[in-house]
Amino acid sequence: MKNKTIALITGANKGIGFETARQLGQQGMTVLVGARDARKGEEAAEKLRQEKIDAHALTIDVSQADSIKAAAQQVERDYGRLDVLINNAGLMLDEKEKKVSEQSLETWRETFETNVFGLIATTQAFLPLLRKSEAGRIVNLSSILGSITLHAKPGSPIYESKAYASYNVSKSAVNAYTVQIAYELKDTNIKVNAAHPGWVKTEMGGEGATMEIEDGAKTSVALATIGADGPNGAYLHMGEALPW
Ligand code: NAP
Repeated sequence: MKNKTIALITGANKGIGFETARQLGQQGMTVLVGARDARKGEEAAEKLRQEKIDAHALTIDVSQADSIKAAAQQVERDYGRLDVLINNAGLMLDEKEKKVSEQSLETWRETFETNVFGLIATTQAFLPLLRKSEAGRIVNLSSILGSITLHAKPGSPIYESKAYASYNVSKSAVNAYTVQIAYELKDTNIKVNAAHPGWVKTEMGGEGATMEIEDGAKTSVALATIGADGPNGAYLHMGEALPW
């Protein structure tokens, strides 16, 4: 039991997070199914347990400091360490009809509260537990929409994708934070990387998305399970580096 890898996936009650929990669980990890709604978390964990996965719900709202603290205390109490943290929780608020200059400051703030500050706060809260792991792994869910290089390049696949500016910039910030924290951790057993899952058929991905959820979880799973020779501070999609 003590040697089982323990993974926490935030926002795992549905979408890419749920599928990531499933795939890590299928590899024999104990998965902590993070959800801001306790009931949804319990339902998701129960679904995974029915698939013979060692899954446990963990209530965590990454926009609430108290909730993050309570979750970290619970993991410390129950397991004494954490091996994998997938910072998957994220949101994209709908202001797509508006130009970049018209997006409300409220939308910018709310988006950053979860996608950026929530991710940083969760990382800080769980870092002491990850330091107790023999090989801690952190995966930050970014997006190709966070690539400043591609946004600035006429003709790139995302050049015209400025509809969700606050979301795009929040993911650029996730990338920047990943590089900063990777530097701090470079001489430790912990590796931290940013993942672009693809354009995935989830509630956020919407109707036009091209990737099945099963494939959308693969980049997170791969980065959660890299060896000691794996990357640190990289921005990857299915093993391929993306331009920052
Ligand atoms: P999704 O289906 O909308 O799921 C998002 C998850 O995040 C849900 O579990 C949601 O919980 C949770 N969440 C939102 N705010 C939270 C908060 N404050 N605290 C805790 N959990 C919170 O989205 P998805 O497509 O699976 O996206 C997962 C990650 O991949 C996100 O970071 C997203 O930005 C990234 N991504 C997705 C795509 C794509 O094409 N789908 C592409 C690039 C990157 P509730 O159910 O309670 O709302």
